[in-house]
Amino acid sequence: MRNIAVGKVYIVGAGPGDPELITIKAMRRIQQADVILYDRLISKELLGYASSHAELVYCGKAPGAHAMSQQHINEALIHYALEGKNVVRLKGGDPLVFGRGAEEALAVATHGIPYEIVPGITSAIGAAAAAGIPVTHREYASSFACVTGSRCHGDKAAIRWDLLAHSVDTLAIYMGVSELPAIREELLKHGKAASTPVALIERGTTSMQRTIVGTLSDIHTLALSMKLCNPALIIIGEVVHVRERLLHAEQQAVQLIG
Ligand code: SAH
Repeated sequence: MRNIAVGKVYIVGAGPGDPELITIKAMRRIQQADVILYDRLISKELLGYASSHAELVYCGKAPGAHAMSQQHINEALIHYALEGKNVVRLKGGDPLVFGRGAEEALAVATHGIPYEIVPGITSAIGAAAAAGIPVTHREYASSFACVTGSRCHGDKAAIRWDLLAHSVDTLAIYMGVSELPAIREELLKHGKAASTPVALIERGTTSMQRTIVGTLSDIHTLALSMKLCNPALIIIGEVVHVRERLLHAEQQAVQLIG
């Protein structure tokens, strides 16, 4: 029998980058936490809202390198909760969108530990909006898909680029920076027009945001010339024109007013 009350695990989305884009609920969970296990993309400003007694544990996973294995993270969540602590697992964007939050929930649930999932604004939605790109639009797109770009090769090629090339209007591709040539090739091979507009958004919603716009045919060259780095999103589809229209309208307004 346990002699201390078990704690609770909160699997929390921190939003896409700008610390102000976190939800009120997520912020409250941070303030009430005894332990916070946080990822690489979490803003330091958000950690500043933790209580002074809170233990902050870095679990960052740089691409290709693992600071803490998923198994180790799951064990840590269980360990702290069994000590009676309120544990926040703070993850970038939404915890369940390419975030492994569901695996963590399952691991703690299996040990009878109560948990709560707090959704967040996923980076595709946040970064696209911050770049003036709506993922849907009455004139340009009635559907969008969030796709991982990290499974382009070998037996992991479960992504149906053939279907995505035709049946979805806007593609938001996560983790695609190093796979850009392969993604481009797959989409062109399956008949996506080379003139399809593409936007690359690096560090979306943050003060370091950079956006570059091109087409499927030249985007790889543009990404190289801009030395695109992670984290970045690839948005493919006619909706990218909206950004150009917004920028154009802003310039015209400035000229009129000035
Ligand atoms: N759970 C997260 C996604 C984790 S996968 C979410 O909902 O957003 C990590 C990928 O997310 C990165 O490789 C990148 O493609 C994307 N990403 C995260 N933050 C980003 C940001 N601020 N700007 C652009 N892309 C971002």
